[in-house]
Amino acid sequence: MNKEIAAVFRPLLHTSVGAAIISNDYLLAQVNPALAELLGYRAEQLQRMPLRELTAKGQRACHAADLERLMAGEIDTFDLRVDLVGAEQQLVHTHLSVTPLFDEQQRICAALMLVVDVTTEIRHGLELKKLFQAVESSGSAVVITDARGRIEYANSRFTDITGYHLDEVRGQTPAILRSENTSDSTYRELWGNLKAGQKWRGTLYNRRKNGTHYWALQSISPIHDERGTLVNIVSVSEDITAMKDHERQMEQLAYFDPLTQLGNRRNFREKLSEVLHQPCENYQALLLLDLDEFKQINDTLGHDAGDTLLTTIANRLRFCIEAPSTVYRLGGDEFTVILRDLPTLEGLKHKAQQVIDLLAQPMRIGTRELRITVSIGITLIHLDSTDSSALLRNADLAMYAAKERGRNNFQFFSPDMNVEARRSMTLEHDLRNAIEQHQLYLVYQPQVSLQSGRVQALEALIRWRHPTEGVVAPNDFIPKAEQTGLIKPIGRWVLEQACHSARQIQQLGLPPLKMSVNLSARQFDDEQLVDQISEILDQTGLEPRYLELEITEGVLMDNLQQAARILQRLRAMGIRIAIDDFGTGYSSLNYLKKMPVDVLKIDRSFVMEIPAEKDDMAITTTIITMAGQLGLSVVAEGIETREQLAFLQQQQCATGQGFLFSPPVSLEQFLTGYRAGQDYRDRFTPVFPSQ
Ligand code: C2E
Ligand code: MG
Ligand code: MG
Repeated sequence: MNKEIAAVFRPLLHTSVGAAIISNDYLLAQVNPALAELLGYRAEQLQRMPLRELTAKGQRACHAADLERLMAGEIDTFDLRVDLVGAEQQLVHTHLSVTPLFDEQQRICAALMLVVDVTTEIRHGLELKKLFQAVESSGSAVVITDARGRIEYANSRFTDITGYHLDEVRGQTPAILRSENTSDSTYRELWGNLKAGQKWRGTLYNRRKNGTHYWALQSISPIHDERGTLVNIVSVSEDITAMKDHERQMEQLAYFDPLTQLGNRRNFREKLSEVLHQPCENYQALLLLDLDEFKQINDTLGHDAGDTLLTTIANRLRFCIEAPSTVYRLGGDEFTVILRDLPTLEGLKHKAQQVIDLLAQPMRIGTRELRITVSIGITLIHLDSTDSSALLRNADLAMYAAKERGRNNFQFFSPDMNVEARRSMTLEHDLRNAIEQHQLYLVYQPQVSLQSGRVQALEALIRWRHPTEGVVAPNDFIPKAEQTGLIKPIGRWVLEQACHSARQIQQLGLPPLKMSVNLSARQFDDEQLVDQISEILDQTGLEPRYLELEITEGVLMDNLQQAARILQRLRAMGIRIAIDDFGTGYSSLNYLKKMPVDVLKIDRSFVMEIPAEKDDMAITTTIITMAGQLGLSVVAEGIETREQLAFLQQQQCATGQGFLFSPPVSLEQFLTGYRAGQDYRDRFTPVFPSQ
């Protein structure tokens, strides 16, 4: 190495920058300690090592070409990023700077190579690149602004969401996304946070480039330099519009009835408790509406028609109930209204009547015109109770009271409804027990020939020996049995028991008697009744001609066709049919001709007033005459006095029943007299009171 070169190299021996002299045959002629250390060699080991060998495999070609040109004087100097191979075969990321060295004749004789370790820089660069890529491909929109909020950067997700490209928004502020729906106070809070050096998180309702809106869940953070000055603001946001829509749908499902779009039970509950928590000077009321006979319509016309009807009702209610009052559908055909802020009770009543009238208007369902009525129970919020469950119960009781008063009306809750309701519930509970616990029994009242005084038939009448209340009369529990459906098992038991007793009398060798059994309208609901009766007759061995069934006119009126069909089948079996309490019901003489009926029982209320009430006497006479003309038998009920008996005998009434002969008694008691051949002729005299 010539002197000049050695002079150049000397100071480099002590620097921290790697340095080497490369001879013109591309060998390392001199290596400083810094370079040796960088590569993990001792300096001597590198002596005369070809530069090629020190260079990572794939990169040898590039510096070889540059070096050749440098040595040939074609280029002055070159810089290169190259990976060198260390003693342990590790790659060392370096930056080379190569300059030619000249001999005395100014010919290029070698090159000086400075080597800088750039491992750290490269790693940083890679990290930055990774970070950038992450931000660029992030699923969130990222925007970076300067301290004054001017956009410096926005990633591609931002473009996807907003429709704005970075070029369009650079230098602008994110206010371009602002919609009128986000309040000023939200922005004030946002900037307040950033200025205080804090992050802000929240949702903003933004506007896209195309004018449509979206919900953004945003997280906005300030970035400070080392001195604590705000330099940038980074906003990361997500488009949560779909989620919000979903949320809204869920809320719709949770709070609204899908059929009518009215608020549902939960919605109603929440509103009611809200109303209960607000004091109010005026009247507020809870109305519970139940459609009359909706079930029947639903069953006969089908569910689609039922749905249309409910929607129509909902729309009418919506029309007539104005805010702040609200309407709900609790389910089925049950609707509620919370009436708010009515200055007078009169106004409240007026509103309820308005609802009734509006719903009563005929409605078109398909090709049909339907009319439906509604029963409304009303309870006063705050005044009747401050508890929502109690209010609902009150309204329910009042609604039932409205139904009992003939439907299509409204009733206000009153505290005695509670007492009544509790009694009714206890009764139902006890009645269920009564059957299982054999608390029911039958008594029998003879029907007597008014000519001979002999017993012709027995009427079976039910009794309930209640464990605490004593004997309960049928009028006090039959309605409940009908209402709860318990009448079916009870009715069956009565038939079995009565047929059994009739058969027993025959088996004792006594003259056979007809057995008259009362049937409820509800027992005519299904045609199984016929099979049931024939089964009972088979089991007990009683001939059908000894069985008589008493029905009221109501049975015929409720469902004329079905009742007629059932009666026809029963009659065809040989069973006799009697109309009980005749004269008190519809008394349409017309249907009697068409109906399969054998007997009319004149109601006790007419017999009772003989001889005081001339009208009743006339009615009695008419019934007897008419029955004769129609070929029907007549039984007069409730004969208590000899006068009544005498009058009936005079009118040719064939049969009678009443306390004058016998009250209803147990079978044993009846049999004592019957066995002895007792008749009731002794009650016949005197025929007329002596004058
Ligand atoms: P109903 O069929 O008209 O029975 C006649 C009622 O009048 C009986 O009342 C009877 O005890 C009463 N009675 C008979 N003669 C006289 C009299 O001279 N004076 C007075 N004041 N009353 C008299 P009860 O037994 O209380 O039955 C009442 C109603 O309960 C019956 O009226 C009938 O409709 C119904 N009922 C009774 N047993 C049954 C039953 O097993 N099934 C059904 N579905 N209903 C029954
Ligand atoms: Mg009867
Ligand atoms: Mg009767």
